[in-house]
Order: sequence, then C-alpha cells, then structure tokens
Amino acid sequence: MDMVDVAIVGAGPTGLALACELRLAGVTCRVLERRADQPNLTRAFAVHARTLELLDARGLADELVPQGIQVTSVQPAPGAALSLGELPTRYPMVLIVAQSGTEKLLEERAVALGAEIVRAAEVTSLTQDDGAVTLHLKNHDDIRASFVVGCDGAHSMVRDAIGARFEGAQYETHIMLADVQLQRPPQETLFGATSKQGLVLFVPFGDSWFRAIVWDRDREGVRLDEPLTVEELKKSFRDIAGDDYGMTEPRWSTRFLSERRQAKDYRVGRVFLAGDAAHVHSPIGGQGMNTGIQDAVNLGWKLAAAVRGNPAFLDTYQVERHPVGESVLKLTDALYRLVLSGSTAGLMLRRTIIRLAVRIGPVRRALAERLSGLAIRYPHPDGLHMWTGRRMPDLRGENARLYEVMRDGRFTLVTKEPSDVDGVNVFVTKAKVPDLILVRPDGYVAWASDTADGRGLDNALKRWCAQA
Ligand SMILES: Cc1cc2nc3c(=O)[nH]c(=O)nc-3n(C[C@H](O)[C@H](O)[C@H](O)COP(=O)(O)OP(=O)(O)OC[C@H]3O[C@@H](n4cnc5c(N)ncnc54)[C@H](O)[C@@H]3O)c2cc1C
Repeated sequence: MDMVDVAIVGAGPTGLALACELRLAGVTCRVLERRADQPNLTRAFAVHARTLELLDARGLADELVPQGIQVTSVQPAPGAALSLGELPTRYPMVLIVAQSGTEKLLEERAVALGAEIVRAAEVTSLTQDDGAVTLHLKNHDDIRASFVVGCDGAHSMVRDAIGARFEGAQYETHIMLADVQLQRPPQETLFGATSKQGLVLFVPFGDSWFRAIVWDRDREGVRLDEPLTVEELKKSFRDIAGDDYGMTEPRWSTRFLSERRQAKDYRVGRVFLAGDAAHVHSPIGGQGMNTGIQDAVNLGWKLAAAVRGNPAFLDTYQVERHPVGESVLKLTDALYRLVLSGSTAGLMLRRTIIRLAVRIGPVRRALAERLSGLAIRYPHPDGLHMWTGRRMPDLRGENARLYEVMRDGRFTLVTKEPSDVDGVNVFVTKAKVPDLILVRPDGYVAWASDTADGRGLDNALKRWCAQA
C-alpha cells in the first residue's frame, strides 16, 4: 500500500498552510481534497496581523499584501472605532483579500516545495494501529500514513472517525450573504449601517465585487433553504441603510446560521485536527481562517520532528492551540452579542459600553492585539525565562530582519554577538531583548537567557532541535 509521512485531509487554507510547513521541513505529505475543481468558495476576507507576520516569516506576505485592501481601523460594534495603526507589528492592519487569493498563494508555495495535492479524492473513513493510519478513499486506492491531519472543515469526517466530541451550540441569528456588484458603491472602504431592524455591511474584494452581509430581524423567520433574491437584499439595505447602492444580481448567495463549537481533543493517537475541523465560530471578527493557518504553523514543525523520530512535541499541540481556540470562541461570541443578538435595548446598552471602553487606551490596545492575534502567547512552565512562549517580534539585524532569516523554517538563535551553532539560524541584533533567545519555526520563543555566556544553551538546543 502507498505510504506517506503525513496525509492531510482537505485543501482549504489550513491544509495548504500545513503542506507548506511540512515540505519546508522536508517531510513527505499528500493533501487529499474532495473537490475536483480548484477554488474554494470565498468565505473569509480578513487576514489579521499575526497571520501576515507568519506569512512574512515564510516570504509570502509581500505577495499577498498588494492583492488586498489595507484597513487600519475597524469597528467591533457600530460607533466604536478601533485603530489598528498602533499595533506593534510590520502589518498594523486587517488585509481584506478573498480567501481564494490566500489559498492560491499557499497552494502555489506548497506545490513549489513538492507537496502532492490530489483532487477528487474524498476520504471516506480511516483506521489507526500502532504503526500508522490507513485512509480509505472514494474511487482511489487506500493510503497508509504515519500521521493524518484532518483539515476537512466544519463537518469533518476525520473528527467523526476518531470520535472527538465537538462541543457547543448553534446561533439562532440568521445571516444573509451575497457577492454583488454595486452601481453606486459607498465611499467608505468598509461600509456598515445599523438600525433597530438590524445591520448591513459591504466588504470590497477589490475587483468590483462586494460581499454583502445582512442581519435583518424582519427576515429571521425565513427558512434557510429558501433562495435569497436580490430584491430581498435590496429591501434590507434600503430599510437599514437607506439605499441599496444599485446592487446587481448576486454571483453567489446563501442564508447562514453559524455555530460555536470546539473539538475537545485535537489529537487522538496519530490523528490530529486543525482549522474548522477543530473549531467553528461566528464569522464576526474574521478569525476562522486566521486561526486555522496558525494551527497549521504550530503543528507543522512538531509533526516533522515526530516523523524524524522525536515525538516529544506532539502533545503540546493540544496544550498550546486548544486554549487559543477557546479564546477565539469567547471573543467571537462577545462580538456576536455586541453586533447581532438580543433585544434592541440590551444591544444598545452593550454597544454604549464598548463605545466608552474603546476610548480607554489600554482597553483599546488589548482588544486590537486580541483581534489581530498578536496577543497570543503559549503557556510557559514555572521557572523558565519570562519570554518563553511569547510571540517573537520581528527585529532588525545588520543585514536582514528576523522574519526574513526564519524563512527556511528552522529554529533561529537570536544573539548579541556572532557565533556558529550547528543546525540553527543565527541572528545577531543589538535590540533590547534577552541575550540569547531560541525562536521556534512558528515564531514563538522556545528558550531564553539573560546571560550571554551560553549557560543552558546546549541543553536547550538538545531539547528543541535534536533529532532522534
Ligand atoms: C461568511 C463567512 C465569513 C468568514 N470570514 C472570515 C474572515 O474574514 N477571516 C477568517 O479568518 N475566517 C473567516 N471565515 C472562516 C473561514 O472561512 C474558515 O475558518 C476557513 O475556511 C477554514 O479553513 P479550513 O481549511 O480549516 O477549512 P475549509 O476551508 O472548510 O476547507 C476544508 C476542505 O476540506 C475538504 N474536505 C472536506 N471533507 C473532505 C473529505 N472527507 N475528504 C477530502 N476532502 C474533504 C473540503 O472540500 C474543503 O476544501 C468566514 C466564514 C464564513 C462562513
């Protein structure tokens, strides 16, 4: 039977990002995708700062950023402006770009690195034993893989196959979505309007198409399978925003009920879950694809180490990424309650509170960092340096930035003086940071020391970088 190191089920943004990470680390992987055609439906359009930083650490951000529209201020609730310009990052923005554009970039990179992407390959079931996982496919031969990652979306077959509980609930609010063109586009880049009846929003894709998003209390009783017409959309916009902006017939539309659910276990034996297969939540806040790509970057180097015989990091995937998923669920739930749910009086009160709160500098910064993903840090066990588990900021060195040096996907040692260390990148900086910092391939701090004499470094390199 055909054998690969890692089989990835699903070629959405999570699966493609994971394929890039695994190939960068020299691991063989095969991506199995049910769809025969190329493009995934454009659902996500917001790429946040931390995701852009990680794409930068792989040399992809410079290609993606020019394709999108840079938004430097967002409104977590109507009237509560949150400036992203103060974020401590090279990318103080939300990049508005179609999900298909992000996927195309990831797919091209994955293929260039040697990933095998097989389309019209639906995985129907899987079984695992001590040595490997066997995947059964529709119309294809079975495959054996040392590890499998279910990146197969919200209705994950892989999740069901390993019996991971997907705990949570469904939101009751009925949202209407459509991609339309506008004869009279609004002046604002991100146009939104609210009234007692609901909320409408236009998000530009930058190619003359706009995503229209509507929550209209008057339409909540409509069945989800009833076709959404342009007249219905126009009426909601006229009622809530006072104009339909000359909306044209949609190229795509849907009625949508989102859910908030998270898998209890991100790993069962040799099988892992990432992206929407592991967590789904309200699209408000634009967190889903961002979280999925970051799951992939966290898991990639750990799986690569395991394939090379060092499985020590595999369990840290759950330890590090499950709390992040939980926090995203809480954030998106809070945003949902601010924007969409409840009685008009309750909604107005919550919005007034957030409008006042974002006027307070530290509150505003904390919210912006949370939304952008910059606030994410991983647990650091007692006794370790306080930088352990932190997001490593991009630093200037003599000839390059840190994130440029990290692009080969290896660990990087940040030092004050040049030195030779086998198997890792060395990055010399005069920045005000600890004397020695070992940075993981996913941009978080593995180990740090305030003494330049290298005490403890050998052990750290053995623990983090040695292969069995
Ligand atoms: C309206 C809306 C707006 C959104 N906006 C944003 C946003 O602005 N920013 C953001 O970050 N997120 C946003 N999201 C969420 C985002 O779209 C998802 O989180 C993201 O697509 C998840 O990526 P994924 O790769 O995990 O899963 P998916 O994109 O769902 O990909 C899963 C893939 O697996 C394949 N597959 C499924 N089952 C099988 C099988 N058995 N065998 C083989 N292949 C299989 C599917 O065909 C699919 O290609 C939004 C979502 C919605 C609904």
